[in-house]
Amino acid sequence: MTVLLRPDLDALPLYQQLPTAARVQLSNNETAFPPLPRVAAALTAGLADINRYPPVSPHTTATRLAEHLDVPAGSVAVGAGSATLLLQLMQAVVHGPSSIVYGWRSFEAYPILVRVSGAEARPVPLTGDLVHDLDAMLAAVTATTRMIIICNPNNPTGTALHRDALAKFLAAVPEHVVVVLDEAYREFVTDPDTPDGLELVREAAGRGNLVTLRTFSKAYGLAGLRIGYCAGPIDLIRAVTKVGVPFSVSTLAETAALISLDSADELAQRCALVRTERDRVGQALHGLGHEFLPSQGNFLWLPLADRSPAFAAHCAADGVMVRPFGTEGVRVTIGSPADNDAFLAVARTFA
Ligand SMILES: *Cc1c(COP(=O)(O)O)cnc(C)c1O
Repeated sequence: MTVLLRPDLDALPLYQQLPTAARVQLSNNETAFPPLPRVAAALTAGLADINRYPPVSPHTTATRLAEHLDVPAGSVAVGAGSATLLLQLMQAVVHGPSSIVYGWRSFEAYPILVRVSGAEARPVPLTGDLVHDLDAMLAAVTATTRMIIICNPNNPTGTALHRDALAKFLAAVPEHVVVVLDEAYREFVTDPDTPDGLELVREAAGRGNLVTLRTFSKAYGLAGLRIGYCAGPIDLIRAVTKVGVPFSVSTLAETAALISLDSADELAQRCALVRTERDRVGQALHGLGHEFLPSQGNFLWLPLADRSPAFAAHCAADGVMVRPFGTEGVRVTIGSPADNDAFLAVARTFA
């Protein structure tokens, strides 16, 4: 006898993670900094209580975030990473024949989560400039569409939509379709024309169909603890909280997130260093004759086309892990200055 599996799982892509133990790890868009000393101390102290359950739902952090972000009480949900929350958002809206529209290439978790949710995946190719093709995304919306995902800045290309283009798009999207603005890299944005999803959520004041998705994994350096949040209309946020698996956010993750919110200055300094390093690495690559896209994230996209696998293999041979995406390009995380120097040294010897 065999178990009866979901037949659609055969078509489910697997999330590809490169070996994590490398001399220089630049393939996951993580931060290179060690934990803030206050976070490390609180986590050590918190170990004494890991025999206890966390709160069934992370409402302390959600309440604190609503104040911190200046959005109405009840308009923030916290989850075990923003990818988990994205699945919860889908679970809150997918019912009956459903489809979800997203730009492609973008975050690799999207096609997986969309299929797990049971919705039909509608990827819409980026424009030639590798930004979201908003007109084509709008054209892909039908009566079954429950959600549109926009990654801004986009992982892995680093490109970002401008405020006017997004505003025009949001005004044209049917009101029953949830628009998820995935802003995992918001803290690294320097282009003043890049919209702030929280501002848009505040303007909607708890109504509307826009939700911004953010994470403690990147700028806050808590990728290993799994905690993220979203802010949006109160009825949607209530539904997102409802479908969450009980106890899925650990007390340690909440502790670290709450301390991080009190450490804004230190974290802002770290993000500023990443942005400075992003410029430095970009200029050095330019000097080496390598093409790359201007990026608003903590990474750079090298449009190497069919040379992508060879470039990544060349880097890996020297212990520098970067991320190739088929024969489209290679994404390189901005790490510590020493990591970045190591990357530039191998990039220099690529023929
Ligand atoms: C890294 C990343 C996330 C973060 O996921 P977590 O589950 O919060 O770690 C979300 N969206 C995008 C586009 C990312 O690149």
